[in-house]
Amino acid sequence: MADAFFQPVSGFDLPRFAGVPTFMRLPHVPPGHDRFGDVDIGLIGLPWDAGTTNRPGPRHAPRQIRDYSTMIRAQNGHTGVRPFELVNCADLGDSGPNPANLQDTLDRYTEFYRNLAPAGITPMSVGGDHLNSLPVLRALAAEAPLGMIHFDSHTDLFHSYFGGQMYTHGTPFRRAIEEGLLDPKRVVQIGIRGTAYDSEDRDFATANGVRVIPIEEFFQRGVEDVMSEAREIAGTLPVYISYDIDFVDPAFAPGTGTPEIGGPNSYEAIQVIRELDGLNFAGADLVEVSPPFDQSGGTAYLAATLIFEMLCVMAPAIAGKDGSPS
Ligand code: MN
Ligand code: MN
Repeated sequence: MADAFFQPVSGFDLPRFAGVPTFMRLPHVPPGHDRFGDVDIGLIGLPWDAGTTNRPGPRHAPRQIRDYSTMIRAQNGHTGVRPFELVNCADLGDSGPNPANLQDTLDRYTEFYRNLAPAGITPMSVGGDHLNSLPVLRALAAEAPLGMIHFDSHTDLFHSYFGGQMYTHGTPFRRAIEEGLLDPKRVVQIGIRGTAYDSEDRDFATANGVRVIPIEEFFQRGVEDVMSEAREIAGTLPVYISYDIDFVDPAFAPGTGTPEIGGPNSYEAIQVIRELDGLNFAGADLVEVSPPFDQSGGTAYLAATLIFEMLCVMAPAIAGKDGSPS
């Protein structure tokens, strides 16, 4: 049973539309807080989109998703998991970017995430565009390369953009593999589709042993079969989960900068997460929600729901691993 301090504010005590919004109505426990060392899963906002090459806006997502996450109740409607009772979850606040300097922001983020392992915190990050995953991996993979299950309509494995620019939301996992942060043979990318400039990213994947599951294969084989292969690729070693909201069809998630037609619906978007049950989680992120393109708020609400589903597989695994709460 988790500490009472770490329980979300109940809708029976304060209506869910009232109060200051934190992720899932959890307590705000930034670094330096006297309960920081008791956190098991930390939700972190990464309000930064300087890696974006097309339509911007994900810098506004952490605040918007915090707001919509107040809609989430404490119990999973399907699995019955109550993650906040299994481990201590908290909103660690935002890792602040330097909006005028990309490299400085990458360094600031890595520094923020280096504080987590000594405190025994597994991060659930909320972007921001997909470049935000790179500085997180630099901290989490400090000791050994990680595996990764990556949901996206894009591989984000390109070498560079617009005349040799190496750090964009289309390049983070190319950099991560080059830097030895990911073991390419334990990386699987699911949902890849859309038009392309060329096949340079896919050629890199093939040459390095990254498993790419395009959307056609995903729909042909179905969620269970594909996710069973994904779990096998991830194995028992630590694995990072990276979830780009543009994995989901833009009919269900229009609020994103680089949508691609012909993707999973919001139910399938949830199903793939439930299939992650039992993995050895190093951390997870949910990125690329762009509130300016999310006129109904439905994309932010879907993102909040997917984050909750992620907590519902991470919490039992973490509780089982080290007997948390710490
Ligand atoms: Mn992406
Ligand atoms: Mn994408």
